[in-house]
Amino acid sequence: MAVEEEAENESDPEELNRILRDDDGSVKDEKKQEFAAFPYTPYSIQTDFMNALFRFLDKGGVSMLESPTGTGKSLSIICSALQWLVDRKQKKVNSGSSSDDKVVVDGGEEDESEPDWIRNFTVVNDDKETIRNNRKHAKEKRPFQGGEVSVRKHEAASGGDDEVNEQEFCLEEYESEEDSSSSSSKRKPPVGGGGFYTSSEDDEEEDDKDEEGGLKVFYCSRTHSQLSQFVKELKKTVFAQNIRVVCLGSRKNMCINEDVLKLGNVGRINERCLDLQKKKSSQVSKKKNLGTNVRGGRTKASSCRCPMLRKQSLQREFKAEILQREAMDIEDLVQVGREMRTCPYYGSRRLAPAADLVILPYQSLLSKSSRESLGLKLKNNVVIIDEAHNLADTLLSMHDAKVTMSQLEDVHSSIESYLGRFQNLLGAGNRRYIQTMLILIRALLKPLATTSDRNLNGGNSGLDTSKSSKPCGGCSMAIYDFLFSLNIDNINLVKLLAYIKQSNIIHKVSGYGERVAMLQKDPAAAHEETSKLSSFRAFSDMLVALTHNNGDGRIIVSGQQGGYIKYVMLTGAKLFSEVVDEAHAVILAGGTLQPIEETRERLFPWLPSNQLQFFSCSHIVPPESIMPISVSHGPSGHSFDFSHSSRSSTKMIQELGLLMSNLVAMVPEGVIVFFSSFEYETQVHTAWSNSGILRRIMKKKRVFREPRRNTEVEAVLRDYKEAIESGRGAIMLAVVGGKVSEGINFSDGMCRCVVMVGLPYPSPSDIELLERIKHIEGLGDSESSSKPSLTLVDDSYYSGDVQAGFGVLKSCRRRGKEYYENLCMKAVNQSIGRAIRHAKDYSAILLVDARYANDPSKRTSHPSSKLPKWIKDHLIYSTKGYGDVHRLLHQFFKHKNVEKSS
Ligand code: SF4
Repeated sequence: MAVEEEAENESDPEELNRILRDDDGSVKDEKKQEFAAFPYTPYSIQTDFMNALFRFLDKGGVSMLESPTGTGKSLSIICSALQWLVDRKQKKVNSGSSSDDKVVVDGGEEDESEPDWIRNFTVVNDDKETIRNNRKHAKEKRPFQGGEVSVRKHEAASGGDDEVNEQEFCLEEYESEEDSSSSSSKRKPPVGGGGFYTSSEDDEEEDDKDEEGGLKVFYCSRTHSQLSQFVKELKKTVFAQNIRVVCLGSRKNMCINEDVLKLGNVGRINERCLDLQKKKSSQVSKKKNLGTNVRGGRTKASSCRCPMLRKQSLQREFKAEILQREAMDIEDLVQVGREMRTCPYYGSRRLAPAADLVILPYQSLLSKSSRESLGLKLKNNVVIIDEAHNLADTLLSMHDAKVTMSQLEDVHSSIESYLGRFQNLLGAGNRRYIQTMLILIRALLKPLATTSDRNLNGGNSGLDTSKSSKPCGGCSMAIYDFLFSLNIDNINLVKLLAYIKQSNIIHKVSGYGERVAMLQKDPAAAHEETSKLSSFRAFSDMLVALTHNNGDGRIIVSGQQGGYIKYVMLTGAKLFSEVVDEAHAVILAGGTLQPIEETRERLFPWLPSNQLQFFSCSHIVPPESIMPISVSHGPSGHSFDFSHSSRSSTKMIQELGLLMSNLVAMVPEGVIVFFSSFEYETQVHTAWSNSGILRRIMKKKRVFREPRRNTEVEAVLRDYKEAIESGRGAIMLAVVGGKVSEGINFSDGMCRCVVMVGLPYPSPSDIELLERIKHIEGLGDSESSSKPSLTLVDDSYYSGDVQAGFGVLKSCRRRGKEYYENLCMKAVNQSIGRAIRHAKDYSAILLVDARYANDPSKRTSHPSSKLPKWIKDHLIYSTKGYGDVHRLLHQFFKHKNVEKSS
């Protein structure tokens, strides 16, 4: 099944344009920018979108553009932003103001009949040739010098497998620059030794800083499939051949080392890849110390133990090859990498500085450490963040850190055993820092040991909880209070982090552990090493978190899941300002970006509302192609209430079953039903199965259920599609926030009716959610940065009491409550947006719960008011009972059937 298709304009665009003009009753004659790269006749809303984006890019600053899913948003972004890019480069060249942009003028005869930007594209191709030649020249000048052979020799000479080589694992003496200011005899910390990296950070170097491509557009989205879809749209335009494009992905998606890839898990793949480089890097460094003739320079990649990254020359050829071809997505890059037997992950990273358009996942762009490691410079460039509907939460979750009790124990025992072996060989500096690490870990373990004993209320947790939100055990605290309570506030964490980073202690300690395990012929050694590295990484991530500003987040200590400490970032303003301050323009695009004000307050509160540029367009479907109804009553007259306290009642589940039995008899082809959670879906499915309702439904349509495991989703969707195409019809029981609710295209018969069961509010028993709600409630208040604005009515929600969580929500005055409702409605909008995918599509949308049907004018905040405009404007509030719903649906599908057959 295709993933996240954009509007299919090729389906008679003239006809669709006519519909749009008829619908608004006027032919638009306003003089607007031409977007010659747009491959079809654009709909008027697409023209409006492109014009707005072009204007916003000209002006710079922060802008938000909203265009419903299925309206060709990606294509509009491509044609507007890239034309702006080319125009801007052209202007600079014309004014002779930038040497960067020579790329668009030199060489070639110009065809005067073509617009400037088309002519420029031709020249860019010439530039590709120049780059190729330069590369060839560079290759000739810097022949590969056989590093692989010398590395192997060194491997053979470096101690063998039958003993622990002290020199290999012993730390070199360490003193921080501060400590060593009075003594020049001791070794300074190695620069770029690369012993430490946080989980959001790599530390590889690139040596291709010679090709800065000038003005760039960075386009990012959340998932790899969304990025691939974007490249697919890009390929429909002339830009695919004529500007330099690079797609950056994760190792999980781009690694071609089968041994590493089979580790399966993202974290383990990252660890293994980096470890392959670290090990060899440290060996190379040792060779230097031993006077071995290793070719100089920082050639980490060429000395890598991964065979796909040994030859720099192949990496250069990969780069030259990609520059010659049209835009490629991740799969294409992987294919080329396999053919050339060189790593596409690192190969594509080398291309970024020279690219005009860099396509990358959120994480790579929004995390400062990732940007730095990738060498991405936002200065005066354009950043487009697509699918930005949850940007604030996504950004914050990237900066969370979590370490479990077993990970801390793992790190502690590894360091202790290392210290036991090397104590006499280590200098005073190393011993001091290692002891400090042990003290710190023991302190962190203390409250966890207590909570994991489930002694939540009586035991000595080691925390002074007078300043926490819970007397003991599971609790949340500000950073300073946490450190103070554990008596570790006197430890200089910044210095300790610098030591961990520069001394390479993580790899020394885990490498030693691995060697010992191997000598003991432990078959699990390889896995242990990777998990040790993960434990070290989680620990160091937590140290980084503890150095954040006190008011930026909260520390949560929980006894659940074996015990863990988590840092929850609460404010994204500072993080986002790093992007905004650098870039010329930051564009947030999405299907639904409401509520704008909440996003502004959370991400760029410094920006006055009137300086935020906003554009929103309606859907390309005519109103008669959607039938949104709020369904308040079931066929037997029972009122629908799927709130937490009522949804499990037999009567409620039975009534929903009756509704579904009725729908499957009336709705053609596919029906998708969204539940708030897998647990509730299971509960309903079991009840329907026991009561015989499921059998009734299955007489009309095949029933499919969204699997919990992502790997099984594709097979289920394939069967679902086959059942529909065979004429049998199908119903899919899916879950809000699951795979089906995001990123999958359910166009046409795949979904003729989408049913949203209840309001999928997140569980108020979630301590992290409550911390965010408290923080947001306090936004705008003068003292909010230092303390939560709420006085909790009851702390018992920390042990998972939902009702107490609701109590907290009731204490909120405005923003906190709004945020909670927004979370729910964003999830609803994301799910129901699956149904209408192009202008000729049609679908019914049923919002099943009496709370959707309440009169919105009677409440200041109402769930339905947060629906997308194109649904909200046509929503039918069915308050007269199910008869109305049945009649409306019957008419709708009858009418669509007539249209189809005529
Ligand atoms: S260098 Fe590339 S191919 Fe080798 S392990 Fe790392 S990502 Fe995989």
